[in-house]
Amino acid sequence: MPVLLIFVDGLGIGTRGRHNPLDLLGEAAAPLAVFEDEEPPLPFGGLLARTDARLGVEGRPQSASGQTTILTGVNVPARLGYHKQGFPNEQMREVLREHSLFLKLKDLGPGPDVFANAYHPQFFAKRPRWVAATTVAVEAAGLPFRTFEDLKEGRAVFHDFTNRVLVEFGVDVPERTPEEAAAVLANLANTHCFTLYEHFIADRAGHEQDEGAALDILGELARFVRAVLSLVDLARTTVLLTSDHGNVEDLSTRNHTLNPVPTLAWGRNKETAARRVRTLADITPTILEILKEEDATK
Ligand SMILES: [Zn+2]
Repeated sequence: MPVLLIFVDGLGIGTRGRHNPLDLLGEAAAPLAVFEDEEPPLPFGGLLARTDARLGVEGRPQSASGQTTILTGVNVPARLGYHKQGFPNEQMREVLREHSLFLKLKDLGPGPDVFANAYHPQFFAKRPRWVAATTVAVEAAGLPFRTFEDLKEGRAVFHDFTNRVLVEFGVDVPERTPEEAAAVLANLANTHCFTLYEHFIADRAGHEQDEGAALDILGELARFVRAVLSLVDLARTTVLLTSDHGNVEDLSTRNHTLNPVPTLAWGRNKETAARRVRTLADITPTILEILKEEDATK
């Protein structure tokens, strides 16, 4: 039975107020809006696990170390002694190559698994010097990347899912509504054992303290997630949404926050996720537990 993981960069559990675009959006931010000391009304019977992103290490949680932790189950800040921003360094790439979730899934068997994001042709032509944790995690399992051909044919989503970023640059791909993009991702989730989708532009809006952009991006992302949930077969599939650290929930600072992040769970094994996830290091073991249980009940 399938698992879909929606990874949203820079989405924390903050306080209500003018500084928090999730509060400003009101109901349009559901299910992304989770506030301190409040139980969120989650659509589609969702459950919340408040998730520690600080991982017992001083300093602000960062992308490279947080994402490597999510994608491996290894508490990378604790192991290496620091949080690291941006892209993983060699020490983190080593952890990813050895412990990647995609690698563990490959060993587990059923498959197929997919990273739903389409990669730019430039990536294949000349590999960038620095690549994201997801890229290394996918490569560790020898899984192919989705291309712009896949994107056009409805077999992949771009990171902004509407493709607007590409259309503005004159790339020949169709612009999609959040609902149309959700149909593509839901279809991938329904036909794969494990599906990962990564979204990171809300984090950028947080760093730029750009309220207009944050409202647009989060509003559309919330629509996209709701549409995915309406299209995925929740009797079969478990849908998880998590983040690597807080940021966009507090536009009064350009930095990441120290807030916990929401891990949201829907569908077949939502209770397992809600019970098991306490820190970012619990995401990979939880996904493996869900898929192992499913394997045993076949
Ligand atoms: Zn991040």
